[in-house]
Amino acid sequence: MKILVINCGSSSIKYQLFDAKMKQVMAKGIVQKIGQDDSSLRQETGQATLQRELPILSYRDGFELILQSLLDKKHGVMKDLSEITAVGHRAVHGGEKFFQSTIITEEVIQKIEEYAPLAPLHNPVNLMGIREAMRILPDITHVAVFDTAFHQTMPPKAYLYALPYEYYENNKIRRYGFHGTSGKYVSQRAVELMKLPVENLKMVVCHLGSGITVSAVSGGKSVDASSGFTPLPGVMMGTRSGDIDPGLIFYLNRQLGLSPEHIDSMLNREGGLLGVSGVSNDMRQIIDNAERGNKRCRLAMEMFTYQVKKYIGAYAAAMGGLNTLVFTAGIGENSPLIRAMICNKLEFLGIELDEKMNNEALDKEQFISAASSKVKVLVIPTNEELMIALDTLALA
Ligand code: AMP
Repeated sequence: MKILVINCGSSSIKYQLFDAKMKQVMAKGIVQKIGQDDSSLRQETGQATLQRELPILSYRDGFELILQSLLDKKHGVMKDLSEITAVGHRAVHGGEKFFQSTIITEEVIQKIEEYAPLAPLHNPVNLMGIREAMRILPDITHVAVFDTAFHQTMPPKAYLYALPYEYYENNKIRRYGFHGTSGKYVSQRAVELMKLPVENLKMVVCHLGSGITVSAVSGGKSVDASSGFTPLPGVMMGTRSGDIDPGLIFYLNRQLGLSPEHIDSMLNREGGLLGVSGVSNDMRQIIDNAERGNKRCRLAMEMFTYQVKKYIGAYAAAMGGLNTLVFTAGIGENSPLIRAMICNKLEFLGIELDEKMNNEALDKEQFISAASSKVKVLVIPTNEELMIALDTLALA
């Protein structure tokens, strides 16, 4: 019994094949630069790596190549397509309709299409992947796992913007929250590791990657999230500005004459770590340069960690307490320095790090709080693909 997990990006298809019984990855790979001159596939199994450079003109070509590679006599991991029991698809925006993963039907496809304006960079390519996979594997179950679903438990006081109410009623303008598949996986692992009844847990999950969502998870349910109607707000990210005064947009437009497209690009692609540092959107390079004396890189690190700190404090207040703090995703899993800067001076909230454990926790599950810390602090590597596989298995 095998589950294929698919994550379609703007010109790529990432995939993993899971052995459903063992919950283990048998093969993982990526088709990149679809439709470009230098398209390629890379697939890794425990035994071998398959690398192919060849024209991949469309998602359809991409899927056919993925299945060929999984079936490849030398580099593959299965003999027949019938070994695949179900396909789990990452879908970004499920609006208010999908509060959990769901078997894909024509109606589900229509809804994902309907929500495309809410996630124009993601939903259309997610759909393209779903359609192609269903065409090639028509007789098995396909499941959509939505990034927004985990946050559908937020109460109205957390998800509503103070706009005229009819914009919520008629246009569904509200906070949705993103990185929910990661949030769900990590918070479930934290519940297992904390060995406390889930209803007692007041948790802040810091998903700190190139995209960022800090979420408040009370009793295992998301009750607030820093990302919003789009993934743009919250903490500054690799290239996204995070929270700004919305009045700035009018100023940039009316006083400085910048077009809406220019402002959109500035906020989404030219801001964040890149915008402040002028050097990179990659936290590793920001840290390296800051250590070599670059003041703007140092400033970017200080702004970043200050903003995460503020969300932790806000969510502790929102939940009426805090006993679990989790770091995940590229920066959260790999940077003891950033974690230490975030937790510095949060002793008043009961957060104390153990320096040695923090320094040792690199890309592995580990408690990093001191024995005396009232709040348990954990590093938990996220695994969105496994979460998608588990949800798919449950429905299939
Ligand atoms: P993700 O989107 O989860 O892949 O995370 C990407 C981010 O993680 C980038 O900003 C990387 O610079 C950052 N990252 C990865 N490894 C490290 C590391 N060792 N130290 C600091 N940041 C890291």
